[in-house]
Amino acid sequence: MTTTPGPTKTWLDVPADHLFGIDNLPYGVVSTTADPTPRVGVRIGDLVLDAGAVAAIGRDAGQVGDGPDLATAWQTPSLNAFLALGRPAWTAARAWLREVLTDEVHRDGVSPHLHPLEDVRMHLPIEVADYVDFYASEDHASNVGKIFRPDNAALPPNWKHLPIGYHGRSGTVVVSGTDVVRPTGQRKGPADPAPVYGPSIRLDIEAELGYVVGGSTQLGTRISVDDASDHLFGVVILNDWSARDIQAWEYVPLGPFLGKSFATTISAWVTPLEALDAARVPLPGQSDPEVLPYLRGDAFGLDVHLEVALNGTVVSRPEHAGMYWSPAQMLAHLTVNGASVRDGDLFGSGTVSGPQRETRGSLLELTWNGTEPLTLADGSTRGFLEDGDTVTMTAWAPGPGGTRIGLGEATGTISPAR
Ligand code: CA
Repeated sequence: MTTTPGPTKTWLDVPADHLFGIDNLPYGVVSTTADPTPRVGVRIGDLVLDAGAVAAIGRDAGQVGDGPDLATAWQTPSLNAFLALGRPAWTAARAWLREVLTDEVHRDGVSPHLHPLEDVRMHLPIEVADYVDFYASEDHASNVGKIFRPDNAALPPNWKHLPIGYHGRSGTVVVSGTDVVRPTGQRKGPADPAPVYGPSIRLDIEAELGYVVGGSTQLGTRISVDDASDHLFGVVILNDWSARDIQAWEYVPLGPFLGKSFATTISAWVTPLEALDAARVPLPGQSDPEVLPYLRGDAFGLDVHLEVALNGTVVSRPEHAGMYWSPAQMLAHLTVNGASVRDGDLFGSGTVSGPQRETRGSLLELTWNGTEPLTLADGSTRGFLEDGDTVTMTAWAPGPGGTRIGLGEATGTISPAR
């Protein structure tokens, strides 16, 4: 994939160091008081472009050629119709957005369709088709292994041969800002004589990136590592809320279930993969053992810097560049058995954790299963989350020419069990 060509100066008054400059242009689904119908919006600076309305002007004026009808795709309440158009249309759309936001000739036509961010309501950006969560950080997998299975090897024997994942619950993916109700369920500690039922007492977070998929495929076909970028539309920040006590009791032998399925928060903005061209980095290394041929190819990493704040106190800064597996390999593995993908599929990277304590992406690891509590700015301590706690994850990546690409935020507040 090549960097989108075109001018880099916008006629809008956006500072060069803004996290949402002309090289970012993330997509979301928005509504306004004047027009409460959710439709696709594109962020530039602290404004949101009503993308479908502007595309309709271009279409009606005959300025748009024989390509897909972006105005129609963008005047729908999710990104899925746009995701269905595929990589060539995504690239053309981005080039067109850059043109109308940089060429002064479009200023008068576009300006009425720019809304201040504070006047815009954000909605879940995609109608999530299938949701899969991977487990791609070696440090996270090792830490969890030591905590949950202290008598065994930290990494399971398959871990360096395939990107481990599980199918999650697409219907409980929520947009940033949605409250999260404390889950209730069964738990049983190793020393407990019998399971008990009640609200989770070990409610946790997992700081991840989520990858949004488009360009659906046919059942029985595979996506290669080299072709993955044709189906990887973009990236969101993802918080895989996790009830560790429910999880620990239920997960053998079929993996995560109710300890994860109650809620997954994603950022409202989907950052196009093209905006992360300058953030592509080599993977840390997969030579020992070498992976099977179907997992080889353009397996890029992404240099995305995450930050996790709990009630305003930064508790972790995970580095996505350290992930062992590439999203391209995850997509190749996800489809190697012939499973098709659908527009709006979402898969998570797995918790992003690094070797240092301050780069661990879950409270499980940060507090070592609650035994080393964190101290927050107000002097209170946390092993796991309390009712009323707010967790906010933010992220940025390097952009072209020393700029930074913001990924927005994924935030949520815990409300009491019902
Ligand atoms: Ca996870």
